[in-house]
Amino acid sequence: MNNIFIIYTGGTIGMVKDPKTGSFVPFDFELIANNLPDLSRLNYKITVHSFDPIIDSSDMKEHIWVEMAEIIQKNYELYDGFVILHGSDTMSFSASILSFMLEGLQKPVILSGSQLPIGEIRTDARENLMTALEIASAKRDGRSIVQEVCILFDNKLFRGNRSFKYNSAKFEAFRSPNYPVLAEAGIHIQYNEDALLDNSGQNFIMHTSLDNRVAVLKLFPGINRTTVHQILHCGARGIIMETFGAGNTMTDQWFIDELSEAINAGINIIDISQCKVGSVEMGRYGTSAKLKGIGVLNGYDMTFETAITKLMYLQGHFTDQAEVAKYVEQPIRGELTQND
Ligand code: ASP
Repeated sequence: MNNIFIIYTGGTIGMVKDPKTGSFVPFDFELIANNLPDLSRLNYKITVHSFDPIIDSSDMKEHIWVEMAEIIQKNYELYDGFVILHGSDTMSFSASILSFMLEGLQKPVILSGSQLPIGEIRTDARENLMTALEIASAKRDGRSIVQEVCILFDNKLFRGNRSFKYNSAKFEAFRSPNYPVLAEAGIHIQYNEDALLDNSGQNFIMHTSLDNRVAVLKLFPGINRTTVHQILHCGARGIIMETFGAGNTMTDQWFIDELSEAINAGINIIDISQCKVGSVEMGRYGTSAKLKGIGVLNGYDMTFETAITKLMYLQGHFTDQAEVAKYVEQPIRGELTQND
């Protein structure tokens, strides 16, 4: 009999309507268990750890990520798989950072939640949770089929650090356009074996040191020098620069000068695209060739969620900015594809 560990952090899945305000508010795991009598019929043993307090995932913080990673590490040898119930709003950030914090995973860590509470008559919660549990316990030849941090939503399994929430109104809330879906649940669960990570032979290592001195420079036509300057010098060690198309920016000399000055002062600047599909291609256009020349780092096809959390992880890991820069551009948990 497989042993599955559920970590309940909160989110819509376990929310109820506050009768006074009419807003959804978090509720404890009992609500989920009461609405899922099938849980006791499963042929695996389930242990639940509820966070205190239960949160809406918009309140997610680094110390909660650390707590999740520590719970997984403490129980790693005792369980076959882990399911994290989590609000969908920041689920991709959590899945991304956990993928970096949990190195060499050989067991599934599946984040899931729902768009409607489990207590509603029409809900996606039951199906999401039951499928997440099934994937968390799936094995072939004695080994877990999934050996990475994933998101299960609306019958699709995504690599956590390739996913983002793109729809707040549909059950199909997540997508990962730059990486194939890892599994699809229909009558059977079909795994995309070629796309899954195989971590066999690696040691499982937990990393909990995070450095949140990161900031975002989102470009738009008309952005002024003062705004750019203030963001670049806000005290961050690393800046995610969200650029146009295949990684392009305006070519004004003042802009290039501002970037160069920040880079020379030791700040890492990472180029990721505002487009959700495709990759940064440095040098494809003259505009991005200039960026490469001054030392802007290539974020390739990383999602925004991954770029931010990878930087927090790398900065927590290395004090040397050059070491951070080196790993930003390399895939370390299957989070990016280099195209040069
Ligand atoms: N606001 C909720 C949360 O992220 C939304 C959800 O769970 O889907 O916690």
